[in-house]
Parts: sequence; C-alpha cells; structure tokens
Amino acid sequence: MRFADARLEPVWERVAEGRRLGRDDGRLLFETDDLLGVGWMADQVKSRREADRVYFVINRHITPTNVCVLSCSFCDFARKKGETGAFEHTIEDMVAMVRDGVREVHIVGGHHPDWPFEYYERMIGAIRAAHPEVQIKAFTAAEIDYFWRRWRIEPKESLARLKAVGLQSMPGGGAEIFSARLARLLRYTGKADPDRWCEIHGIAHSLGIRTNATMLYGHVETPAERVDHLIRLREQQDGSGGFLTFIPLAYQVGTTRLVPRQTPPTDSLKTIAAARLLLDNFPHVEAYWVVLGEETTSVALHFGADDINGTLEDERIQHMAGAPTPAGVAREQLFRMIRDAGKVPVERDALYNVVRVWPR
Ligand code: SF4
Repeated sequence: MRFADARLEPVWERVAEGRRLGRDDGRLLFETDDLLGVGWMADQVKSRREADRVYFVINRHITPTNVCVLSCSFCDFARKKGETGAFEHTIEDMVAMVRDGVREVHIVGGHHPDWPFEYYERMIGAIRAAHPEVQIKAFTAAEIDYFWRRWRIEPKESLARLKAVGLQSMPGGGAEIFSARLARLLRYTGKADPDRWCEIHGIAHSLGIRTNATMLYGHVETPAERVDHLIRLREQQDGSGGFLTFIPLAYQVGTTRLVPRQTPPTDSLKTIAAARLLLDNFPHVEAYWVVLGEETTSVALHFGADDINGTLEDERIQHMAGAPTPAGVAREQLFRMIRDAGKVPVERDALYNVVRVWPR
C-alpha cells in the first residue's frame, strides 16, 4: 500500500505488527486527508478478524417514553410531561410490539420523572414471560445512573434485579462524548459522567451482562475529544472486557442545529475506520444504517465495519431528530446493504451467536 499521506506508514507498521495505536496516532487518523489510506488499514483489520462476514439481527426497538427530566441540547427526542409529542407506553403496549421472529428487543427511553424502578422491572419481566425466546437488551448506563439519582437504587442492585427478570445485555447510549467541556456546553452534566458511565458498564460486565458503547460525533466536538473518548473506552474494555460492539452515532441536526448541516459521509467513514484501528479490543464496530443511510452503510463495510444493526421496525430517537432513513427495514434491505458491498450476510442474535450464514 502506498499511502497518499506518508505519515500513515509508521501507523500501518504498528497495525500490521498487531501493536496498539496511541493518542497521537489517533489524532493523525482524524487529521489526515488520506481517507482511503485510513480506510484501507481498517479494512485489513476487519478482514483479519471477520473476513467477508457482516452481521445483522432481526430486532425491534421499543421506546417506552420520550418524557425526560433532562434537556440535553443535542436532543430532539425528549419532551416534558404533557407537552405536545410526549408519549408513554403501557407495559401491555410494549409486550404487543414484539412480533414472532424477532430475536432481540432494544429498549431505551427518556428519564421519566415518575415511573418507579419497579415499572421497569415489570416491563422486562412481562416481555420475558410473553416472549421467552427473545433476547432483551435494555437501558443505557445513563438510565441505570438515573435509577440511582431518582430512586437511590445502586447500579449493582438495579442491574442484578433487571437481570433476574430477563435483561441480557445493555445498549451503549448515553456516553455522548466523554468531555467535561462538551457536557457543560451541551447541557448534559445532569447524566452519568465518563467515570460513572464506565463504572456502570464495568458493573454490568462483572454481572455477566454484555454491553455496547457509542460516541455521538459530528457536532461541536474536536478530533482530540473523539480520540480521548475512544481511548477511554479501550481502557475500560481492558479492565472489564464485556463490550461487544462500538457504534458511532452521527449527530442528526434536526431542530437543535448545533451545526448547520449533517456531518458528511467522508467524516463518518473516517470515524468508523479510526474506531476499528484504535479499539483493538472491541470485537465489533458497527455501521448503523439509521444514521448513515443505506448507501454510506454499504461503503462503510470497506472501512472497518462488520455489523449494520438490524430491522429495528420503529426507531424513534434518531427519527425524532430528523433522520431521513425509514424507521425500520425488511431483512431484504439489510441483505442489499451487505451484498452491495460484496460481503456475506450473517444473521446473529443479540450476543453474536450465529443464527444463519446467508449466501453472498
Ligand atoms: S439525550 Fe437522553 S437524557 Fe438527554 S434529554 Fe434526550 S432523552 Fe433525556
């Protein structure tokens, strides 16, 4: 490989030898104009791990409520109680949302001011009882922290109780960007800070609950803050080892308009590639089709991503922020995103057990 930016050559030497990249390498990956060089390195790493396999899951997003006590300035999803557009689902509603054939439900919502912790316990228990075959992935670390802030239930207790009624894994949201500067600027100081977010994931891992991790990018963060975020996740994974997938989340401009327009696909491709190269201890890096669009998702499968998420059926959080993609897709559309990239679709469950390898 001849790099357009010769500064990438020593980076590639380290990657090829299986050595870990440092903070300066990370900054260079974001700074360089040699997008194809960064992508090529990430593709080598992905191919070494997974060859041509790309994972997807038949899943269902459930958003119990968008009522939230916080007002993060990048969020177009949350509403106050009684405000136009606010919704609150009953447990019966949520149980009925899970149709036959779904392997994973993904449950994330606002920080509701009144719902007691027991409501969430009953929610998970009812879905588990009605659909014993479905894997339940639920509640970000920010929500688990909120159960402590609101009801004084320690994360170790809340996670153990939720696991006892059926929770199997946790999504990776609520991390935003690990930066005190941005937490103040974007008004998310009221939720779990980086140490707390990582502590809660560590507790989950110690209880045998696998989790994911995210990063909200493409707003007013700096490349250095992205690198700090990725390295903090890598350190946590070194310590507790239970992360499955890293999912970069491109900020949707919506009505919050922290920046004038959506970050371009080139930035998303570079972010996915840099994550694959820096997160050497994360099994999977995802190209989340909801925030990327189908076309960029296909391209991202040549930039280090080995997963595209799933059918979703009714994604709310990104769509209330103006994501132009559909709220859900059929399995055939997932096949198209993967096959357009010349890759092999592998249907998985929430824990990456292979359900079926489909024809290329
Ligand atoms: S990002 Fe989460 S915590 Fe912040 S306002 Fe939106 S729903 Fe609430």
